[in-house]
Amino acid sequence: MEPPVLLELRRRLRMLTVIRIALATVLLGATALIEWQARIQSSASVATEVTIYRLVAIVCLLSLFYVTALRFVAGRRQLVVLAYVQLCGDVLFAAALVYITGGTASVFTFFFSLTIVLAAIILFRAGAITLATLSSLLLLVIGMTEMGIIPESTFLTDMRLSGVGPLDPVGTEEQSLTTIAKNLVVNVVAFYVIAFLASYLADQLRRSDERIQESELSLEDLRVLHRNIVASIQSGLITVNQSLQVTFFNREAERITGYQSREILYQDITRYFSDLKQIFLNEDKIRGQTVELTSEVFRGKLCYVRWTISPLLDSRGSRIGHVLIFDDETDVRNMEEQMKRAENFASLGRVAAAIAHEIRNPLASISGSIQLLRSTLDLEEDDRRLMEIVNRETDNLNAWITDFLMYARPRVGERLSIPIAPLISDSLAVLANDERSAGIEVVFNPSSDASTYGDPTYLKQVVWNVINNAVQAMNGEGTLTIEISERREDKGVFNRVAFHDTGPGIPDDVLERLFEPFFTTKASGTGLGLATVYRIVSEHGGTVSVDTGSNGTTFLVDLPVHQAA
Ligand code: ADP
Ligand code: MG
Repeated sequence: MEPPVLLELRRRLRMLTVIRIALATVLLGATALIEWQARIQSSASVATEVTIYRLVAIVCLLSLFYVTALRFVAGRRQLVVLAYVQLCGDVLFAAALVYITGGTASVFTFFFSLTIVLAAIILFRAGAITLATLSSLLLLVIGMTEMGIIPESTFLTDMRLSGVGPLDPVGTEEQSLTTIAKNLVVNVVAFYVIAFLASYLADQLRRSDERIQESELSLEDLRVLHRNIVASIQSGLITVNQSLQVTFFNREAERITGYQSREILYQDITRYFSDLKQIFLNEDKIRGQTVELTSEVFRGKLCYVRWTISPLLDSRGSRIGHVLIFDDETDVRNMEEQMKRAENFASLGRVAAAIAHEIRNPLASISGSIQLLRSTLDLEEDDRRLMEIVNRETDNLNAWITDFLMYARPRVGERLSIPIAPLISDSLAVLANDERSAGIEVVFNPSSDASTYGDPTYLKQVVWNVINNAVQAMNGEGTLTIEISERREDKGVFNRVAFHDTGPGIPDDVLERLFEPFFTTKASGTGLGLATVYRIVSEHGGTVSVDTGSNGTTFLVDLPVHQAA
């Protein structure tokens, strides 16, 4: 493949051939017409016409040769040489035509000018000046023959078109000499003026062509670069206009949010990202760059999104909207939280171990001693009551410590596949022996073979804590319904145990702090029941959720069917 400059040169040479053949054809037609008229007037000089026909034939043959040559030449040098050969041939042709049609006064001197213009187009200044000089020289030779300075052969004179030649006496010889000189000067000046003007224009044209090509290239580069950057960016990218309508939504944004670009385009962005409303409310704050973390619900899941928001400026620096770059930080945040919780539990575990050692052991001694004393001493009624108080409080304290240890102790329990229904039946059996449950109806179908993966001791504790709360909430009368169902989620297969009670429901302020350790609304509560439930269930890879209202409360405990990763 040739470089574009050479291709262009080739194209122009081809164009030159076409122009030449076209002109030759016109000339042929014109000559035929003149001849026909001359015949009518019967004053023909057949020799001139024949010469013109010959010249045209030569031009056509040469053109054929040029076109063939163009196929074989390669490289800039050869092409330029070929261009000069063609143009020089054309000038010679013009000179011959001028000579036989009346010399310096011939109408065909414009053929010289035409060749100079073509030279300017094809070979620029150097070509134009060369051709102008060559044309001037040839015209000068013609002029000199006319003036008689150079002798003329009769062969050439014969060929002259009769009646047009300046040597036909039009006036005195002196007059015709001045006319010839004038014609010569005018033509030569014209040749050079044309050469300069035409090459100047051709040069300008070439430069602006190059400039256009260059800027087209860089524009295309820029477009590709822009497209690639925007597409390859590993963050969501959104642009909005002044009225907060989305004007651009990239592929990563589609991936993170699950929204399609075409459904969100030209919609109000705060309709889809509700937490952004707050940020855009005090829009003046968004001057340079604002980074905020918001929570959004995408595809029904709560996600944490880190936004970097900057004003979008046009080329004159006025604001036309905003650019929003965002990343899904949900995983990072969850991990952070998990780590924080793990740290907390590690220190809590150490406290628990200390309590177990420092309080529980002495407590066991106290309660043992009291029981011993009670059986050996013969006590007054009052003293026995006091001793009973000590006994009861020791038991309470012991129970509290048991709860606390259950909550705080680091767990490395065994993990087995265990059926869920027996865990529930066991707790219900304990409940049946409890006088608090006398007025409570229990609905449960123990035939389910649903299972989970985990430590039975701790899972039993979960069931017991939830049932215990339900019974306490119903205060002696109501219905406790327990159901097991299977759920398939993105994260895996879960067995959901739903504990529904007909208690008074949970008020909002309690609901907020439900799983907080030591949070209780009961006089003798420890506030550790649900905190323990939450901790054990999450450690098993499950989740706890609550649904509450005026007709009761439902605790939903989702336990994974397979071992958590
Ligand atoms: P505790 O039972 O020792 O108070 P929990 O962590 O088990 O501690 O429960 C915390 C609080 O949640 C309870 O004090 C109670 O107010 C509320 N609660 C728990 N379960 C229910 C329920 N099923 N119905 C109404 N309130 C409940
Ligand atoms: Mg409780």
